[in-house]
Amino acid sequence: MASAFWCIVEDDRQGAPKKVMAEVLGAASRLGGGPVEAVWLTDKASDAGLKQLGEWGAGKVWLLENAGLAPYRSEVWAGALADLAAQQSPRAIFGAVTSRQRELVARLAARLGVGLAADCVALAMNGDTLVATRPVYAGKLIARVTWAKGPWVATLRPNVFRPAEAQPGKTAAVERPAVSLPPAVMKFVERREEVSTGLPELTEAEIVISGGRGMKGPENYVILEDMGRVIGAAVGASRAAVDAGWRPHRFQIGQTGRTISPKLYLGFGVSGAIQHLAGMRTSKIIVAVNKDAEAPIFKIADYGIVADLFEVVPELTKEFKKLLEK
Ligand SMILES: Cc1cc2nc3c(=O)[nH]c(=O)nc-3n(C[C@H](O)[C@H](O)[C@H](O)COP(=O)(O)OP(=O)(O)OC[C@H]3O[C@@H](n4cnc5c(N)ncnc54)[C@H](O)[C@@H]3O)c2cc1C
Repeated sequence: MASAFWCIVEDDRQGAPKKVMAEVLGAASRLGGGPVEAVWLTDKASDAGLKQLGEWGAGKVWLLENAGLAPYRSEVWAGALADLAAQQSPRAIFGAVTSRQRELVARLAARLGVGLAADCVALAMNGDTLVATRPVYAGKLIARVTWAKGPWVATLRPNVFRPAEAQPGKTAAVERPAVSLPPAVMKFVERREEVSTGLPELTEAEIVISGGRGMKGPENYVILEDMGRVIGAAVGASRAAVDAGWRPHRFQIGQTGRTISPKLYLGFGVSGAIQHLAGMRTSKIIVAVNKDAEAPIFKIADYGIVADLFEVVPELTKEFKKLLEK
């Protein structure tokens, strides 16, 4: 009988599930609609990763560990997942809204011939049916949707769902199903690897520094990155900065960018437009630096400095360094 709620594992490519998996597993567990299981496709799993999934509430991990899964190719992954779903008939399949899973889960839903509720911000059981809540028309409307037939396939927006509380010592049964990988259709003609900045990823970071139009140009983000390296923060941007071509879109915070909920958000030269706030207002502590005392961001800031960011940022970095060296 179809009963399990599957959570597709997003990992850090080093064998560890990302923080967003605590959110996806937490959301699936709270529904109480069936056993919660993780499905991990990887060329290299780790014991620590499997342990982590168990502690976050996965009762079972379906582990598809195969060298043919690297590099990631959506047609191979979606084919393998569809095969496993056909064998096991899960009740629901959840992924996270990440670059990879956005594509993978959409392909999977198409293969299974079922609907996809993308970018969900809430999930609830209504009797025996799953109901998903998702913003539409760039957040102007909220739609509640359900599925004509199962499995219910959905992607969950990061930093919105409460993460599962880790239960130390809780373990997941590990199953290694026999699934053959479909042949790759796509070939890499050219492959470009991102050079790591050494800073944490935006949606995973506990501290986020955001630079807006007040940064004046792409060359000035180096002062935010310097601060990021000192305090272990990710560096994001407003849409104005992204639209100006100063930062790639994956760094955009807000309604049409990433949703973040860090412990500390530091905004420099960001005015605090409603669409920016939509992506960061649940941050635990908000600090804003803006030379305009009337900037709307000060209305939601816990701490504010009315000053020129180009004077404040180097001073703050110096102070952080001193504090952390103690
Ligand atoms: C459908 C839609 C979706 C959108 N989605 C997003 C989204 O996802 N994310 C997003 O961010 N925006 C989004 N926007 C755009 C949003 O409305 C704002 O235009 C944008 O957030 C403004 O970015 P900003 O705060 O960097 O720029 P501005 O509003 O121009 O603010 C710059 C600020 O920098 C300050 N400043 C300038 N120089 C200095 C200095 N030297 N020191 C200190 N402060 C200084 C200024 O006082 C000002 O407050 C969206 C808009 C629409 C219509």
